[in-house]
Amino acid sequence: MNSNENLFQKEEKFFFRTYKRLPLDIERGEGCYLFARDGKRYLDFFGGLAVNALGYNHPRINKAIQDQLQKYIHLSNFYVQEPQVRVAEQLIAITGFNRIFFSNSGTEAIEGALKLARKWGKKNGKTHLIGLSNSFHGRTMGALSLTERQKYREGYEPFLPDISHVKYNDVQELRSAVNEQTLGVVLEFIQGEGGIYVVSPAFAAALMELRDRFGFLIVADEIQSGIGRTGKFFGFEHFGMKPDIVVIAKAIGGGLPLGAFMGNDRVADVFTYGTHGTTFGGNPVACAAALAVLEEIVEKNFMKKAEEIGEYLKGQFGSLQRAFPALVKEVRGFGCMLGIELTREGQPIVDELQNRGFLVNCTNTNVLRFLPPYIVTREHCDSLVQELREIFGGL
Ligand SMILES: *Cc1c(COP(=O)(O)O)cnc(C)c1O
Repeated sequence: MNSNENLFQKEEKFFFRTYKRLPLDIERGEGCYLFARDGKRYLDFFGGLAVNALGYNHPRINKAIQDQLQKYIHLSNFYVQEPQVRVAEQLIAITGFNRIFFSNSGTEAIEGALKLARKWGKKNGKTHLIGLSNSFHGRTMGALSLTERQKYREGYEPFLPDISHVKYNDVQELRSAVNEQTLGVVLEFIQGEGGIYVVSPAFAAALMELRDRFGFLIVADEIQSGIGRTGKFFGFEHFGMKPDIVVIAKAIGGGLPLGAFMGNDRVADVFTYGTHGTTFGGNPVACAAALAVLEEIVEKNFMKKAEEIGEYLKGQFGSLQRAFPALVKEVRGFGCMLGIELTREGQPIVDELQNRGFLVNCTNTNVLRFLPPYIVTREHCDSLVQELREIFGGL
């Protein structure tokens, strides 16, 4: 038995069976590539599920982490901490929101945003939250109550009360669902786990119009689509709108656990001292990494790069669709967040890509999801498309 097998056997034995792990033993990463212990190299379009926005072993992120390690790894949120303040200053300058709270993860940031919304609603006589069909907002009970995808909910009832779901992009259903009691609508403008479904301009417009009329909050879950991934800092910017609360995580920490929610002036003064908090949230090492991520994205114009390379790759996917119309149903998304919806299951194609040295994710059964780091090149994209062309041709 080699040490590799040992690792997989121990994993099977020790862990609750929540993750079906890929049969890969990754030793290290560099740029857009991952290297397995057996020496095999993989071009990564999986991107740590949208976390590794700048690829692996990034010198600026690594240096920021090392520098902070030598100062302090943890203090406590009783202290003001320079790395946190600097990230907050950057995020607020980039986004125009008024206030921020740091968490450790996406789902915790959703929980905090829900608490912020609830407390705001108490003052304004509003209690009812609306989520959308096919949504994913995280695994904790509050976030799960908003999540609509049955796959994640089954067996965990009862959920939080006073939450209902509206069909994605169904303007009529949205209109009949909202009223004076509506506290907020929580949504992914570009659904990630759901299969890269994009909000329609009509739905976004109706949402804004109804907010003006009824005064509810719009809460954008930008955990997967944020931090420049779609070619704009936030996905909702593609629809010319501004939510009241935005939730981020994934890419912001450069691979370290970090999330946050931000709010505009409507909700800026809802929390008072002691009414929300966390031990680890906004960890200074994670914030030092986040600062490096943000500075790198701003200085090197990575939003523009994500947009351009994404347009290029989407164009290539479009030509695949024309070549294989019976197989490719639709190509969706923006920037480095793209999906190919197939007319059949995606997993066998993902497995074959992996054999050929390409890492891609399949979500919602038949959607190939591509979340490459923003540093991916045209040559990388061409090689992926070439493999896809061969695989599709052989089906
Ligand atoms: C990943 C994700 C979450 C949950 O984030 P965690 O850090 O895994 O808790 C929530 N919403 C969206 C849109 C996500 O992609």
